[in-house]
Amino acid sequence: MKSYQELADSCIECNKCLDVCPVTKVTGNDSFTPRAKISLLNRIEEGKELTEDEMNNVYLSTRCGACDDVCPVDIPITDIIQRERQLLAEQGREPEKTGKICQNILVNNVPGHMDDAHRFDWITNNLEIAEKAEIAYMGGCWVSFAQPEIARSTIQLLNAADIRPMLLEEEKCCGLFLIDNGHLDEAAGHARKYVDYIESQGVKKLVVSCPGCYEVIGKEYAKLGRKPEFEVVFSLDLFSELVREGRLQPRKTTGTVSLRDACPMRKEKNVPRQLISSMGYSIEELFEGTVCCGAPAGVKPNFPEISGKIANLTLENLQEGNTLVSYCPFCQYHLDGVSGKPKPVIKDISTLLAEQTL
Ligand code: SF4
Ligand code: SF4
Repeated sequence: MKSYQELADSCIECNKCLDVCPVTKVTGNDSFTPRAKISLLNRIEEGKELTEDEMNNVYLSTRCGACDDVCPVDIPITDIIQRERQLLAEQGREPEKTGKICQNILVNNVPGHMDDAHRFDWITNNLEIAEKAEIAYMGGCWVSFAQPEIARSTIQLLNAADIRPMLLEEEKCCGLFLIDNGHLDEAAGHARKYVDYIESQGVKKLVVSCPGCYEVIGKEYAKLGRKPEFEVVFSLDLFSELVREGRLQPRKTTGTVSLRDACPMRKEKNVPRQLISSMGYSIEELFEGTVCCGAPAGVKPNFPEISGKIANLTLENLQEGNTLVSYCPFCQYHLDGVSGKPKPVIKDISTLLAEQTL
């Protein structure tokens, strides 16, 4: 297997990654490119000084994967960025905010200014939740604290299909930020403890509403050495199955919505489209070839202005009055807060499906 350095050295300088990178697009700065990011690996490994722009460039990536998708020689650009961040963290050179957020996850179990004591404030009396069940539901941080209607809609839809899930009393942040920022040993310890806990509850199937949680618990934990024995299911996949089986029967409506895909699910686009069609909506594909929302992997806290510009770039095709349908709570949180015009009307598919079904 080739080393990361050999892979970085195999760059043929075609610049295809520059054309798709949201950071390169909004900064218009030749320094802030995926190609330039991977070229720093050698110097970071050797502990050499980096200029301020070079240092920023390593952290100016949402790890959206668009560059990986287009690289003709299959350089794992996002893996190399992760490795560079890992080295910089080990050398005590990562941005202060990045280190603080990682600590906040490990100590306080939240990635932002949230209070873990309020994680389950979204629960309302009309939800049927089991004390113990083989199916558990995990809202995740951005649903629990910022988009509680997604959690409520999900439980209501499961209840409508005669499923009463349990919740995880000790629900944790999945740790995506740790992984994105190369804190891999800490992420591995976090994964081990969390999976041990979930398995100790007898859970066979974990339903999650966030594409980030789905990727991390369903795929990344195994790479960190702790593969869960339970199945991790993205809520839309389960809804789609329940609609197919007739256990959820959305009422048909008319109208058009614009669907925005989530980066971690960018290769599995059929399910959200089938669900939206099952409600009778037409889909206007306004986001083909557009970019990541601009928030993940530390870009929002470390570079809020650039993060906001990427969000506005993402939304540039949206017209006044369009409804944007999303299935990523973090995108929704970020795009909801952008100051550009037009102000988006954003709905999660779970919420839309609950409105059409219950
Ligand atoms: S992962 Fe996304 S943001 Fe990061 S370098 Fe690649 S295209 Fe740019
Ligand atoms: S797409 Fe791949 S080969 Fe082309 S410039 Fe970017 S990293 Fe190099």
